[in-house]
Amino acid sequence: MIPQHHYVSCVGCGTRVHAYDSTTFSCPNRDCMPEVNHVLQKKHVITNQLWDRRKLEDSANPFVRYRHRLLGYHRALNGNQTDIDYIERVSQLDGILAAVDGTGFAETPLTVETELADAVGMSPEQKLFVKDETHNVAGSHKARHLFGILLNLSRESLKHPFAIASCGNAALAAAVVSKAAGVQLEVYIPTDAEEVVVEKLKALGAHLHICERREGEMGDPCYLRSLEAVKNGAIPFTCQGPDNGLTIEGGETLAYEIFDKWRENNDSCHHMFVQVGGGALASSSAQALAETMRREPLQVLPRFHTLQTRGAFPLARAYDRVVRLIDARLKGEELPELEAYKDDMSVEERAAAHDAGAVNQRLIMADCIRAAWDSTAVQSVIRYACANKHKFMWPWESAPHSIAHGILDDETYDWYSIVCTMLRTGGIPLVADEAHLQQAHDLAHQYTAISPSATGSAGLAGLLLMQEAKAITDYENVCLYFTGIER
Ligand SMILES: [Zn+2]
Repeated sequence: MIPQHHYVSCVGCGTRVHAYDSTTFSCPNRDCMPEVNHVLQKKHVITNQLWDRRKLEDSANPFVRYRHRLLGYHRALNGNQTDIDYIERVSQLDGILAAVDGTGFAETPLTVETELADAVGMSPEQKLFVKDETHNVAGSHKARHLFGILLNLSRESLKHPFAIASCGNAALAAAVVSKAAGVQLEVYIPTDAEEVVVEKLKALGAHLHICERREGEMGDPCYLRSLEAVKNGAIPFTCQGPDNGLTIEGGETLAYEIFDKWRENNDSCHHMFVQVGGGALASSSAQALAETMRREPLQVLPRFHTLQTRGAFPLARAYDRVVRLIDARLKGEELPELEAYKDDMSVEERAAAHDAGAVNQRLIMADCIRAAWDSTAVQSVIRYACANKHKFMWPWESAPHSIAHGILDDETYDWYSIVCTMLRTGGIPLVADEAHLQQAHDLAHQYTAISPSATGSAGLAGLLLMQEAKAITDYENVCLYFTGIER
């Protein structure tokens, strides 16, 4: 019998799935316990070898360089492939990606942006790191997530179509990666999908399904239709963690590249800002950060901040509710009863509680929680949140609008690990209005050589809010993601 060095388990209910079962993507208990936060996560039982730096290949391709940390690699070995077979397969797929899209996977730049730092009022001693993902496959980080899924699939799974609900970068990335793999992609798009994206998807050979909102239905209709396709046998080729937990590991390589660069240059970073829509980018970064701090800690644990728009900020709402319960527990009070699927504040009040004026107060609370992270008070509340998703995360009630339209997801699908990472690191959720998002976009274009979309530069709006609140001291370094090229 092969010793089980890896396994996959559900964060919410604890159900274990065999690590080499390549047909299970979401927790089998999702439907029977809908109030629990079911997300499958891979776990490595023996980790020392996976983190052995001597095993890091001198390859620019993150799927080769970090392969020992990827379940997809261990599945290949378990399927009687050799290390060389795996590397050859990645390089063969990469060659097709380059032919389809003009680029394959390679480490993306982490630049120190001095002019931008100056423009946002940082001192010359502070470093502003920007991870530029705009020239990655299909122009954003989404392809990393999806390529990670692809490497986890068996030959048998590749006979099924792939399904995704998206009309932006995720769909484009899915179309490019599916084409490279020779698999049919079914894309579920809204009625108002951008013409330029629709044309590109068609050119890449994807089948498009236009989804209208149905009377009385809660949640995104494209997402609901894609779930139906999965029930009918399609592979969930998506960046949404609860539907496919394997989407996270490809995204983790992005954060590993950042951490390795800091290590190489003896740099440290005090604040990371991540823009959040469905939450895969933030969740991957959060999990890579946690794994890195366990195995080979960074000099400084950065505060992990998130940024959403005033259009929709379900993650900030969930964070607030968790904090409210922790606050009560830390004070020894009775836990307040939270109503499921219903906020007790208006959208305007809740948004105002996340702007620049509220930042310093929030950081004080965040520091208290970070210090008490291991306490029963905090741990009992986060377990409670994981078991009672319906009281913390539910689809946003109104149809949102923003120039950062790529982060307007109704729901932050992988919210739990992001909230935990914010609490654990002393980070906070920020909510930006349109003026800040526009300003961030303008500054990115004016002071850097990178050309992100308004979604891609949204993390910078978080930094602007923190700077307004004078919440970053003049020796602290900051890191942002610019991902999603301007089209
Ligand atoms: Zn579960």
